[in-house]
Amino acid sequence: MNYKIVRLKTSGKIGKTASVLIVYTGGTLGMAYDESGSLVPFNFGLILEKIPILSNLNIAITVISFPEPIDSSNVTTRHWRDMAYIIYENYDSYDGFVVLHGTDTMAYSASMLSYMLHGLNKPVIFTGAQLPISAMRSDARENLVTSLEIATAKVNGHPIVPEVCIFFNHMLLRGNRAKKVQSIHFDAFESENYPPLAEAGIVIDYNTNAIRPYESQKKLVNLNQLDNNVMVLKLFPGITDKILDSCFSIPGLKGVVLETYGSGNSPSEEWFMKSLEKAIKKGLIILNVSQCNGGRVIQGRYETSKELLAVGVVSGADMTTEAAVTKLMFLLGQDYSRSEVCAKLTQSLSGEITA
Ligand code: ASP
Repeated sequence: MNYKIVRLKTSGKIGKTASVLIVYTGGTLGMAYDESGSLVPFNFGLILEKIPILSNLNIAITVISFPEPIDSSNVTTRHWRDMAYIIYENYDSYDGFVVLHGTDTMAYSASMLSYMLHGLNKPVIFTGAQLPISAMRSDARENLVTSLEIATAKVNGHPIVPEVCIFFNHMLLRGNRAKKVQSIHFDAFESENYPPLAEAGIVIDYNTNAIRPYESQKKLVNLNQLDNNVMVLKLFPGITDKILDSCFSIPGLKGVVLETYGSGNSPSEEWFMKSLEKAIKKGLIILNVSQCNGGRVIQGRYETSKELLAVGVVSGADMTTEAAVTKLMFLLGQDYSRSEVCAKLTQSLSGEITA
């Protein structure tokens, strides 16, 4: 792939003290209105014209742009591989990484990268904007500038946030705990089941107890084998056996994230349980996550979830759907047996689950 590389002319007065690689994938942040009033990606090399303050930062900034920036609704496993590859190949040359990404699927991408970048020991900060950089009231400037600061923040010479995060609207969230919850307001992301890693006010207040610690012996490995023979099935009152059975007989399907009610409850009718049992016996992995944004799946808490446990549905505990479906793709892509995948789904790979 032919990436466009741009070195921005930043000229901090006391010399450049840190370096960041920005990976520009697309999304609203980097878009401008064309003559017809539609949003189209703009040439990211012109970013200094849009955010002149970047030239005063004491940070050496390089931008690698996807050759064709995408609306994040078009993100695929190939784009995840590209993002991980760019970070992996440039890992030793930068203090931190900022990934500019559309908000729609940012939580999926941040979750996936948190698994693929095994042994990560530097900040990878996803950010974007609700309004394009060219708009008067855009949130792009604040999101980008603070992300750059977080990506280079150090204590005792080590990065403060050596993990994959999302920074948006003053909040730094663990990437695999975040969820897009707003399409209109600026506070687009929430992390109901894990505390924010930092809040940016007059100073950036880091919640060090919640951040994964820096570990000097870690070595980055790019685990880029993914298997997307998975699906998300959201339960709704009135769901029929026909729907369930035809989903479970999709050729090649290996894993299903089942979005259940409340603390992991589902219909307890015989046809429903029989259908799940048959699918699991055939080898399908079914992972139970809740439709609620907060709380956790506790299989067996209610009568209506006891049977799920009995037929072999795996509990997703407090994982988001975004973290769960990407984890399934990731684990199925590795060289694990079915039972290893099931076991690892319930364990924390990179802080996505309270095991
Ligand atoms: N549709 C856009 C995207 O996800 C929205 C955004 O950037 O916020 O790429």
